[in-house]
Amino acid sequence: MFTAFLIKYGEIGIKGKNRYLFEEALVNQIKYALARVSGEFEVTNEQGRVYVEALSDFDYDETVEAMQKVFGIVGICPVVHVEDEGPEALGDAIVDYMNKVYPNCSKTFKVNARRARKNYPMNSMEINAFLGEKILACNPDMKVDVHKPDIMLNVEIRQKIYIYSEIIKGPGGMPVGTNGKGMLLLSGGIDSPVAGYMVAKRGVKIDAVYFHAPPYTSERAKQKVVDLARKVSQYSGTIHLKVVNFTDIQLYIYDKCPHDELTIIMRRYMMRIAEHFARENGCMGLITGESIGQVASQTMQSLLTTNAVCTLPVYRPLIAFDKQEIIEVAERIDTYETSILPFEDCCTIFVAKHPVTKPVLERIEKSELKLTEDIDRLVKEAIDTTETIIVRATE
Ligand code: ATP
Ligand code: MG
Repeated sequence: MFTAFLIKYGEIGIKGKNRYLFEEALVNQIKYALARVSGEFEVTNEQGRVYVEALSDFDYDETVEAMQKVFGIVGICPVVHVEDEGPEALGDAIVDYMNKVYPNCSKTFKVNARRARKNYPMNSMEINAFLGEKILACNPDMKVDVHKPDIMLNVEIRQKIYIYSEIIKGPGGMPVGTNGKGMLLLSGGIDSPVAGYMVAKRGVKIDAVYFHAPPYTSERAKQKVVDLARKVSQYSGTIHLKVVNFTDIQLYIYDKCPHDELTIIMRRYMMRIAEHFARENGCMGLITGESIGQVASQTMQSLLTTNAVCTLPVYRPLIAFDKQEIIEVAERIDTYETSILPFEDCCTIFVAKHPVTKPVLERIEKSELKLTEDIDRLVKEAIDTTETIIVRATE
């Protein structure tokens, strides 16, 4: 019965020019989300109201679910359109709506009519009273409550008449594209997809970089990262995923540096290369799934040592999350099942039995001097041979 949706969005901080940008990004993201739903839709933004109208048959549940992944949406109101054929016909349509949406209902309600078109033969107050009576006549168990109704029945008189009362919760946040772009270090683990999701929720567009170490990490491990990027892209929009061939750098570090410092030194090179691509792609920061104390490379000392090579801000939205809290988000956004597939990870392959947990920056910098001869060339080669995969949410 529903043929359209009125989209509610948070309005804090979107005055003036920001409002226009916010709405434009919201419309774009809704279009992106609906592209993977069967059905044809028109998304419009008129006078600060974002509407989604179905132009063909569509799958209601799929449509709602897709829009629940669009950041910036606070509520999704399914709308019924009726032609204006006079107040009596509207009365019938309203009774029909109530019977279908709230069968055998004993809740309280209020009619909230708005005349966007002033030539309608009744004013808003008269419409409210007229429709209220019609509903009461057919639903003797319902009552009117004008202060705190269970059901707010909105009736908007435009060219057509719009009826809606339900609000389905949206994800909140801000539309992707309203807050610049960040470069996500995306591994095949549980944490980094969640980190990308969280930053995207603040309106940040995401690109990603994955450090691949063939033949130590397999094609399937890479495919897993692509699959994770695709899951995140349902929320964040298209992701440009850089797949960096990291093997030679890892082998070189393994060859030259103390093995207990391997992970830290490797992570410093990941950050450097990620930063190179971040700058190239116009990203204003790096994003990682790090969380204090989770593993040896994420103690405060380790984070300090890794961070020392970065000149861009590094966003770590999971910094104070426990693993269980991260898993809960991963399950909710449907990345968890993919993340726990048992493919090898480049960090685990060369990992030392007892990695340093309290690296000293000066010592790490000194160890890196042992790489002077070839490292610049290897980094350049890794950058030059990087593959870019454009990941879209179409499943
Ligand atoms: P995750 O679940 O995200 O893999 P993790 O607990 O395995 O995290 P680490 O391996 O220490 O943690 O990595 C910390 C962060 O560094 C990751 O969240 C991710 O942002 C980045 N990272 C680690 N390995 C890679 C990789 N191979 N490619 C890209 N980024 C990586
Ligand atoms: Mg990992």
